[in-house]
Parts: sequence; structure tokens; C-alpha cells
Amino acid sequence: MQYGIMWKTVSEDCNLACDYCYYSRVLGRPQGIRTPSPAILEKTLRDYLATCGPVASIAWQGGEPLLAGLPFFQRVVALEGELARPRTTISNAVQTNGVLINQAWARFFLQYRFLVGVSLDGPQTAHDAHRVDAGGRGTFDRVMRGIGWLEQVGADFNILTVVGPHNVGRGGELMAFYREHGFRWIQFIPQMAFQSQTVDDPGIFAISPQAYGDFLCEVFDVWYRDGHPDTSIRFFDNVVQSYVGLQPDLCTMRKHCPAHLIVESNGDLYPCDFYIGDEWRIGNVADMALADAFNSEVYHRFADLKPDLPESCQRCQWLAHCRGGCPRNRQWDDQPEHAADYFCASFQQFFAYANQRLERLAAPLRRARTQSLLQRI
Ligand code: SF4
Ligand code: SF4
Repeated sequence: MQYGIMWKTVSEDCNLACDYCYYSRVLGRPQGIRTPSPAILEKTLRDYLATCGPVASIAWQGGEPLLAGLPFFQRVVALEGELARPRTTISNAVQTNGVLINQAWARFFLQYRFLVGVSLDGPQTAHDAHRVDAGGRGTFDRVMRGIGWLEQVGADFNILTVVGPHNVGRGGELMAFYREHGFRWIQFIPQMAFQSQTVDDPGIFAISPQAYGDFLCEVFDVWYRDGHPDTSIRFFDNVVQSYVGLQPDLCTMRKHCPAHLIVESNGDLYPCDFYIGDEWRIGNVADMALADAFNSEVYHRFADLKPDLPESCQRCQWLAHCRGGCPRNRQWDDQPEHAADYFCASFQQFFAYANQRLERLAAPLRRARTQSLLQRI
């Protein structure tokens, strides 16, 4: 079975105190670091590498996963090598705030081909507005130094930018900053408020759908470059994939949430990073085979959420590309239970604005794909 796992490597432990973080409550001063025990680590990797498809996709998140330390990750890659079946491709990805990256980390990421996601909210004035340490000091310089190490050794990395009030009106400026620094792999995610950690409470969002829609359109104008984009913006790449007729890899743009498990540092299993709470706990990897999680009542209940589209999505002209967004975003404010994604208006605005140019980009790719399929018949 093809599925991926994502570790909450050190649970919510983090060395920063970003004031918009909806996950960590340790305010940049973790009391000891919670890494998976050797037994949990080995059981999980053993189960996973015995049952995943030809590509093992393992993501390391936190909190701040680098707090687990280099020896922990050296143990991880050693175990992966020991436990993987022949001809398995192992893809490790790590999402980090970047401040702990030094030459040793960068060399390790290069050697084991980790894809490194670094959280950076744009130029210093935008980044330091929220991404601060326990003493309230901005982290821009430290993050850029970490990125410098990745560049120096030639390790792959991308930039993850949280879009909130601090940068939502600055799309063109963000793009100019990323271009100036040669950052060509970028992902944007809209900011959710801290209170949104409780799954069954309505989500609280920091920006309006209109502001996010304006942001997407502004960034798209820069990205498009007269039909010759040279930067990867994850959302736009996925939209083009969809226009070409391929399945996007972005979960929100698929018909169903992809097969994926979240593993907490203590071995607890959940179906998605946005569904972590007692009601969504599948079990613990110590007591069950990992792949059996997909047959659990919790997983089935979770899998039913995304395709249960509200009426407005079923009638929407953009449904084939948007796919109704994320079910977590369908609970917000005092909206009825079956509301559309909070960012529905952003998506509608974006698709209406960019549709013609997206069609122009996708048409030759669609033709090439059709030809290559015909040649195989
Ligand atoms: S619930 Fe939302 S974030 Fe989670 S996998 Fe589904 S679409 Fe993605
Ligand atoms: S644009 Fe809005 S109505 Fe249309 S599919 Fe997306 S969320 Fe649903």
C-alpha cells in the first residue's frame, strides 16, 4: 500500500515562541525534549518499511524536529537502511525553523538527501514580526544563516511562508525578496490562530478570504512571467497539475485525503496533522500494526469527511480543481456545520482571475501527455 507517515518528532517542543503558532505551547522554553523511544522508533519504521509501497515517504515535523539532535537522525537513517526492503526509495523530509542548522546538519541533509523545508515569512520586517525566540528576539538572521549552510553544501531546501496580517498585503515584495535570494521552491500557508489547535472548535483564521484571494492573485501575476514561470509555488504547481489532468499532490486539492498517518513522539497515531485530539486518536503503534490504522473506525470516520461536500461545492464550476479544500476549514465562526472551506471565496477569486492563463500553461502540457500516452498504446 502506498502511504506516508509524518512524525511529530519532538511533540510540541520548540526552541522558538512564534506568537501565531497553533501547535506549540512551550513558549520557546521546552522542559526536556520528547523524542520517540528507541522501541517506538524501531517498531514504527519496521512496520512502515515492511508495508509501504516502493516509495517510503517519511516527514519529520515538530515542534522543532532538530531538537531531537543529530545522533537521533543518524540512528533513523541507519535503521531505514537496515529495515527497508530491496529497491525501496526512501524519501525523508524535515520541516524546521532553521535556526539550529549548521554545517554538520547541512552535510547530513545533503548526504542522506533530506528535503529540508525552512520556515521563513519573507523579508526581515515581516519575518521578525512573529517568528521570535523565548526572549522576543527576531530570528531572521539566524534562519538566513541556517539557509546559508544549506546553500553552501548544496542541500535541497524549500521555503514555507505563513501568510498572515504581517505579509498578506506584500505578495509582490515577498516574491522579489525570494528572487533576490535565489529561493525557487516556495509554499504558502494561511495563518490559523492558536485556539484552532482544538479540532472540534471552529477554526479561527487571521486573514480574511478576500485578503488571501488578493494575495494569491498578486503572487500569481509575478509567478506567471508571460507563461514562463521559473519558480515553484506549491499551490500554483498543483493547480497546473490539475488543469493538465494529473492528480495534484496537495491534499486539499484531492478528492480524498491521501493515505497518511501522523505519529506522535510517544507512538500515538492520528489521521492528519489537523486532527490531533482524543476523538481522532487511532491507537498507539506499540499495540497495533501500522497499516491496520487504515482499517480503524477513526480512520474511516476521518476519510468520510472530505468527500462529504457542501451543496455549494457540488454546484461549483471550480470543483474539478479545488476539490472543496480542507474539511478542517469547513468549521468556522457561526457557519452551519456544512459550510464551504473558509477560503472558498479566495479560491473562487483566484480561479476566476487566473483561469485563462492556467489554461494557456496547461494546454501544451496536456497535448504532450496525450501524445506520450498514445505512443504507449
Ligand atoms: S484534513 Fe485537510 S489537511 Fe488533513 S489531509 Fe485532509 S485536506 Fe489535508
Ligand atoms: S471554490 Fe468554494 S465552492 Fe468551489 S469547490 Fe472550492 S470550496 Fe467548494
